[in-house]
Amino acid sequence: MEQDWRLNGQEKYLQNVVLYRVIFPDFWNKAYAEKNEFYQIILRGAKNHVKMFHRTKPYLEGEKVQEFWHEHCEFCYDKAMTKNPSEFYCTKDMYRWICKKCFNDFKDKFGWTVKSSDELFV
Ligand SMILES: [Zn+2]
Repeated sequence: MEQDWRLNGQEKYLQNVVLYRVIFPDFWNKAYAEKNEFYQIILRGAKNHVKMFHRTKPYLEGEKVQEFWHEHCEFCYDKAMTKNPSEFYCTKDMYRWICKKCFNDFKDKFGWTVKSSDELFV
């Protein structure tokens, strides 16, 4: 059988890991209200961007910081953005993201354990 084009050695870092189910935009709304670790990641990225490209402070006001963040699915490169209603699965460090379709297609092969996104911040 021909290999799925989306598979490219991800088993090296995604085999049998715990993934957290994230629903956008709810996940962002909660992060923004609570200023949790996800918000901090986005804020750090936005601050670096503003510094690097000599943008002005208004870019960091309120919910504008989310405009600087997106991630890609580890398999199909589908884009995760805080404002796009969608379901993704991420690793504990929120560094690797997997879209709903790829999650469903590969969950048996990779043996993932799924937890609620609420458990990311306990
Ligand atoms: Zn995908």
